[in-house]
Amino acid sequence: MLKKFGRTTVLKDLNFSVDRGERVTLIGPSGSGKTTILRLVMTLERLSGGYIWIDGEPLTHDRRGDKRVELKPREVSQVRKRIGMVFQQFNLFPNMNVLQNITEAPVHVLGLTEEEAREKAHSLLDRVGLRHRADAHPTELSGGQQQRVAIARALAMDPEILLLDEVTSALDPELVGEVLGVLEDVAANTDITMLIVTHEMQFARDVSQRVMMFDGGRIIEEASPDEMFTNPRHERTQKFLEAVV
Ligand code: ADP
Repeated sequence: MLKKFGRTTVLKDLNFSVDRGERVTLIGPSGSGKTTILRLVMTLERLSGGYIWIDGEPLTHDRRGDKRVELKPREVSQVRKRIGMVFQQFNLFPNMNVLQNITEAPVHVLGLTEEEAREKAHSLLDRVGLRHRADAHPTELSGGQQQRVAIARALAMDPEILLLDEVTSALDPELVGEVLGVLEDVAANTDITMLIVTHEMQFARDVSQRVMMFDGGRIIEEASPDEMFTNPRHERTQKFLEAVV
C-alpha cells in the first residue's frame, strides 16, 4: 500500500496484512507512519494505492480482477461500523454522562432500543470496573476512568477490529495499569482483531502476537514479540528499543 499527503509519500510500498483475531502492535519513532495506518484502517484517510488486507480481504477498497475500486460512501460507513477506535485523548462526549456516552452509538447507529443499549452498557461498565460511575460526567472522572469508559464505548459497537492509538500516553503513570489491565482482559476474552500503537513494551509483549517496527513510512522489521524484544535484527530497531525501554 501507499499513502501520500499531497506530494509527500508517508507510507511507502508496504504490505499491511492482518489476520482475523490477530493482535498486532505497531512500534517505531514519532513520524514513522503508525497513526496514519490506524487512520487509514478507520477510513479517516484514503489510501493512495494498494490495499489494507484483513483476513485476506481488502478492507477499504474493492478489488475486481486487477482493478482497485473505491468504495461508495455507504460502503465506507459499513466498513467504519466494523471498527472501534480509542484515542490518546479519550474523546468522550463532555455533555453526556458515562451511560449516555456508551449508549449513543448503539442506539443511533446499530438501532438498539434504549433499554437494550443500557443493559449492554451496564455489562460493559462491569467489565471495565465502572458500573458505579454510570451517572458521572467525564469531567468527574480520572483520566484512567475516562479511558476505561472510552474502551467500553468502543466495545458497545461490537467491533470486529479495535484500534488503540497510544491510549495510555496522556495518563499519569499510576493510572496506566488499570487501563492496560482492561485491555489485557479484552485481548484474553474476545476474538477482536486489535491494532495497537503503544510505547508500553511489556504490554505489547503480553497481548500481541506480532510486532511491526516502522521507520520512515516503511515496516523495517516484523516478528513475534519475543523475537522482536529479545533479538531485534535491524540496527534501527535495536536503537529504538534501547531508547524506549
Ligand atoms: P507516527 O504515528 O508514527 O508518529 P504519523 O502517522 O502521525 O506518524 O505521521 C507519518 C508522517 O506523515 C509524518 O511525516 C507526518 O508529518 C505526516 N503526516 C501525518 N498526517 C499528515 C497530514 N494530514 N498532512 C500531511 N502530512 C501528514
